[in-house]
Amino acid sequence: MSYFYKNLSIWLIIGLVGLLLLNYLKQPPADITYIRYNEFLQKVEEGHLSTVTIKGSHISWVTSDNKIYRTIVPPPSKALPLLLKKNINIEVQEERRPHWFLKTFLSWVPFILLFIFWFFFMRTSGSGGGGGNRAMAFGKSRAQLIDTENPEVTFRDVAGVDEAKEEVAEIVDFLKNPDKFTDAGARIPAGVLLYGDPGTGKTLLARAIAGEAGVPFFSISGSNFVEMYVGIGASRVRDLFKEGKKKAPCIIFIDEIDAVGRHRSAGGGAGNDEREQTLNQLLVEMDGFEANDHVIVIAATNRQDILDPALLRPGRFDRQVMVPLPDVAGREKILKVHARKIKAGPDVDWSIIARGTPGFSGAQLANMINEAALLTTRAGRSTIDMAILEEAKDKVMMGAERRSLIITEKEKEITAYHEAGHALVAWMLPDSDPVHKVTIIPRGKALGLTMQLPEHDRYSQDRAYLFASLCTLLGGRLAEEAVFNNVTTGAGNDIERVSDIARRMVCEWGMSDKIGPVTFRPSDPLNGQPGQIFSEQTARIIDAEVNNLISSASATVRQILSEHRAVLDSIARTLLEKETIDRNEINQIVRQHGAKNA
Ligand code: ADP
Ligand code: ZN
Repeated sequence: MSYFYKNLSIWLIIGLVGLLLLNYLKQPPADITYIRYNEFLQKVEEGHLSTVTIKGSHISWVTSDNKIYRTIVPPPSKALPLLLKKNINIEVQEERRPHWFLKTFLSWVPFILLFIFWFFFMRTSGSGGGGGNRAMAFGKSRAQLIDTENPEVTFRDVAGVDEAKEEVAEIVDFLKNPDKFTDAGARIPAGVLLYGDPGTGKTLLARAIAGEAGVPFFSISGSNFVEMYVGIGASRVRDLFKEGKKKAPCIIFIDEIDAVGRHRSAGGGAGNDEREQTLNQLLVEMDGFEANDHVIVIAATNRQDILDPALLRPGRFDRQVMVPLPDVAGREKILKVHARKIKAGPDVDWSIIARGTPGFSGAQLANMINEAALLTTRAGRSTIDMAILEEAKDKVMMGAERRSLIITEKEKEITAYHEAGHALVAWMLPDSDPVHKVTIIPRGKALGLTMQLPEHDRYSQDRAYLFASLCTLLGGRLAEEAVFNNVTTGAGNDIERVSDIARRMVCEWGMSDKIGPVTFRPSDPLNGQPGQIFSEQTARIIDAEVNNLISSASATVRQILSEHRAVLDSIARTLLEKETIDRNEINQIVRQHGAKNA
C-alpha cells in the first residue's frame, strides 16, 4: 500500500471519529423547553396535561400551541403513580441509548485522537522533516525496512571502475566458496568500505558482488537507522545482522554509513546519543563476527573523511576501496553499458559523448541516456541521435528548463548581462575552463546559467585555475554592477562559491604567501569535524588573505569588463535574442570585436 493511501486512511479515520463525536454530543433541538420537576408535578396536579411521553428519565409533552416541554425525572420518582392517578395517557418510548460497543468506543475517542496527534508530531519532528515514510512504518515489522534481494546484476554491468572491481573480486570468491578460505586459515575482511563521489556506482558494485556470488543482498541506508526514538537504531542493527546470519553467506549493505558513523567528537544536539548507540551496536556486531559467519558487510559513503576512526579499525571496515569518477575511457564504457537498453541511431558516437562529459558520474551518464530516451519517445521517434543526447546532457547538467516561469523584460535583461559577464570573463582568462553553453532560460532555481566544461579530465586544480574560477564567478555580479549600477540577489550562489573557494585556497590548500602551506581547518559541527584551534591573530591574517584574493579577482574582472564592454553588450544582446548560445557563437562574437584572450 502506498504512502498516500495510508495517509488517506488516517484522515478517513479522523473524519469518522469526528463525525461520531459530533453525533454523540449533538444538542437536542432548541425548541424544547425544559422545566423543573416540581413545576411539572404542579402542572400535573392542576390537570394541565393529558398525554405525556416517557423516554428514559425524560418526560415530555406537547401543549396546544405545539410547544414541546420536557422535564428530567429523578430515578425513584413518584411521578408515575401521580400520572396514573390523574388519568393522564402515558406513552413510553424506548430510549435510544448508544450501543455499548459504540459507547466504549466513544469513551476512547480522546485517547485515540491523542495517539494520532502524537503520531503526526513524531513524524514531523522525528527526522528533520525528511523521513515521511518512516512514521507510517511504525508497527510494521522492522525487518521490512531492510531490503532483501538476490541481485541479477553482475560485474559486467559495472563499467569504468576496473581497479575497484579487482579489489573486491576476492570477496566474490570467498562468498562462493567460504569453506575453502576458512580451511586455509585466511582472514577475510568483515567489512569493506566503498567510498567515492555520489553516483559513481558504489551501490551498484555492492549488488554486483552479491550477484556474481549468487548470495542474498540485505540493504539499509544509514539515515534509516537514525530515528528519534532512542534505541530503535541499535535494535535495527541487531535485526539486520540476525537476518543476515540466518541467510549466510550473504552481503549486508549499509548505504550512507556516515549518517551513523560520523566522528564521535562531533558537537551535541538531538539524535546524537541515538547515533552513538547505533554506531556502537554496529561495532559490537562486527566485532562479534566468527570466522564461519560468512557475512560480509559493505558500506558506502561519499564522506569517508568524517567517519569515526573506530569504524576503520582492523576487523571492521579495514578494507577501503575507492570508487572514483570515471575517466574518458570509463565514461565510454559506462555509456555503452547503458546503451544496451536503448536504440541508438547510426550517427551516435559514444566516444564523442564521453569526451564531452568530463566530471560526469556513472549515475549522471545513466540519467542522460534515460533522458534522451524519454525525449525521443516524446518526439515520436524511435532511435536516439546525437542532437537529443546533447539536449539530455544539458538537462542533466543544468536541471530541467522552466519555461513557464514568468520573467519581466527587465529581469531578463539583467540576467542576460549577468550571464554574459560570467561568459566574457571565462573566455578572457586562459586558465579557466572553456564556456560550454550560456542560457537565460530558467533552469532549476537559477534564472540563467553559464556552463563551463573542462577540455580534459581534471585531477587537480592549480592556483591559476582557482583564481580564474573566482574571477568567472564574480563576473556575473560585477557585470550587473557595471551596466545597471545596481545589484540583484541573483548572484547569491556565485558569492557563496567565491567565499568558499577563496577560504579553502587560504586555509586548506596553502595558496597564500602570508599563511604558507599550513592547513587551518575551521570546525564543521554539521559534518562532525572537530576543527583546529588557532589564534585570533592567525584568524585575522586568514580573513585579510581571503579578502585580498577576492579583491584582486574583482579588480581583474572590472578591468576585463571595462576593456571589453562592447563584447559584453554584444553577448548580452545575442542572449536576449536567442536565449541560449554555445561555445562557437561566443567565439564568433568575441572575434568579431577583435578581442583576444588576456
Ligand atoms: P552510488 O551508490 O555510488 O551513489 P549508484 O550505484 O547508486 O551510485 O549509481 C546509480 C546508478 O548509476 C546505477 O544504478 C547505474 O545505473 C548508474 N551507474 C553508476 N555508476 C556506474 C558504473 N560504474 N557503471 C554503470 N552504471 C553506473
Ligand atoms: Zn551567476
